[in-house]
Formats: sequence, C-alpha cells, structure tokens
Amino acid sequence: MFEDLKDRRVLVTGSTAGIGLEVARAFLAAGAKVVLHGSRSPSQAESLLSELSAPGRVFYLQADVRETAQCEALVKQAVEAMGGLDVLVNNAGGLGGRQGLEGIDDDFFDNVIGLNIRSVVMVTRFAIEPLRASARQSGQSSSVITTGSIAGREGGGLGACLYGGSKAMVHNLHRNWVKEFTKDSIRFNTVAPGTIDTAFHADKSDALKQTIAGSIAMGRFGECQEMAPTYLYLASHAASGYVTGQVIDVNGGQMCP
Ligand code: NAD
Repeated sequence: MFEDLKDRRVLVTGSTAGIGLEVARAFLAAGAKVVLHGSRSPSQAESLLSELSAPGRVFYLQADVRETAQCEALVKQAVEAMGGLDVLVNNAGGLGGRQGLEGIDDDFFDNVIGLNIRSVVMVTRFAIEPLRASARQSGQSSSVITTGSIAGREGGGLGACLYGGSKAMVHNLHRNWVKEFTKDSIRFNTVAPGTIDTAFHADKSDALKQTIAGSIAMGRFGECQEMAPTYLYLASHAASGYVTGQVIDVNGGQMCP
C-alpha cells in the first residue's frame, strides 16, 4: 500500500516519542527517507536511530520549534540531509500545562502559542520553497500534514483554552494556505487525534483515564499505531492527490463533527 511513498523525503517534527515516532516508523516501513526531530541532543537520539535501523534513510535533527531561527535551521538541515523535501509533518506540539483564564500570564501564553502555532507557521513557511520545488520536479503534489486535535473542535478540557484555541487555529491556517499554494501543487491537511495513549496523558490518574475512555464510542484510548496510516494516506499523491484543506478525525467516535 502507498507504494509511491518509496524514496519520498519526509520531515516529521516531534518524532522522538508518541504519535510522531509511530508516523516516522510507518514512513520508513513504506520506504521513505525520514528526518526525525525533537528537543533532545543528537547523542541522546543515537539509540533511537539504531533501533529504527534504516541506515542512509533516517536522520535526526534537534531544534526548539518555539523559536523561528531554529525552525528555519531545521528545515534547511532536513533538506540538506535528504536532498530535498516532499512531505512535511508538523506534529510537535503539546498542552504546555493547564491554566484557567484568570491565571494566564505572558510566559504561559507565549509558551503554548509558540509550541503549537509559531512552530507550525514557521516550519511550514520555510518548507514552502523546497515543497514547491518537489512538486515542480516530480510532477506529484507535495504534502503538508499537521497534527491538530479534537480540542480544536470542542474547545479542550479545563485549563486548556489556549491549547484548544491554538489547535483550532492550526485547522484554519490550512484552509487559508490551500488558497495560497494549490497553484504550486502543495496540499495541506490536518489529522485531528482524539484521546491517544501517549505521554500527553501522563498527568492523569487511572480513574480519570477510565472516565475519559467511557466517553469514547469505542470505549478506549487510541494507539499511536492507529494514527500513522492516516498520515501515509495524506502524504501519498496516488491515494489522496485530490484531497486538500481537510481535517481528518481519528478519534474512535469520541466526537463526530
Ligand atoms: P508526545 O509528548 O509523546 O509528543 C510530543 C512531541 O513533540 C515529542 O516528540 C516532543 O519531543 C515534541 N516537542 C514538544 N515540545 C517541543 C519543542 N519545544 N521543540 C521540539 N519538539 C518538541 O505527545 P503526543 O500525544 O504524541 O503529541 C503529538 C501531537 O499530537 C501534538 O501536537 C499533540 O498536541 C497532538 N495531540 C495529541 C493527542 C493525544 O491524545 N495524545 C490528542 C490530540 C492531539
């Protein structure tokens, strides 16, 4: 399946753990070249690279994607490592802690918005030129896929108004970029996970996790492996070449927008 992903050059931000790591694994299994990215140092990522065991096809880059200059350097180095860029997966993001509206100060605001918005805007901004070149040279559309959230649909849990709002903005940014870049044959889609079993939920008690699971039609959290195929589909020109500007919900029926 998705044979056209072989040798495609893919940058996955936030891919040392959780959803991003499974997405990176799935692209590697499909024969793609992958740049993994995270905030840990290259030496800390060595064991992960050897475990993935795809020499010459997998690379690691460190960057704090809350910083514009580091977003620019990340894209530049990824393009150098792989010889170009065909697919960008903006996956890095997170809650950044919980804070009710009256407790939000500038530091909290800047951290959540930097992590979920500046990262997506700036990494995508610097990726546009290589993605445009990819489409021009290959005759296939290039693809930007961003991890949104069910919180972008329903507002987020208590204390997560900025997180939920930032994911809603991510969903909407893509709708705008469709208008600007479809002429360049770049597609933009969002994957909106429901409740997926990752470190994202590490602060929750078992009782709370059970309550949440009870609110999901399938009665359980999703697994990262259940997220990854949707990213492959959206990256594949053969499978989804006419799909752009969409939010694909992968949430076990937790919400049916
Ligand atoms: P995770 O914590 O396992 O993964 C987050 C990734 O982002 C990690 O690889 C981390 O290294 C990276 N990251 C975080 N801050 C960074 C920074 N400043 N600079 C560089 N990298 C940074 O959690 P996850 O659940 O796999 O989250 C992945 C994405 O999925 C996030 O965008 C998250 O908002 C979204 N999401 C998760 C869920 C869920 O239930 N797990 C639900 C909806 C959306």
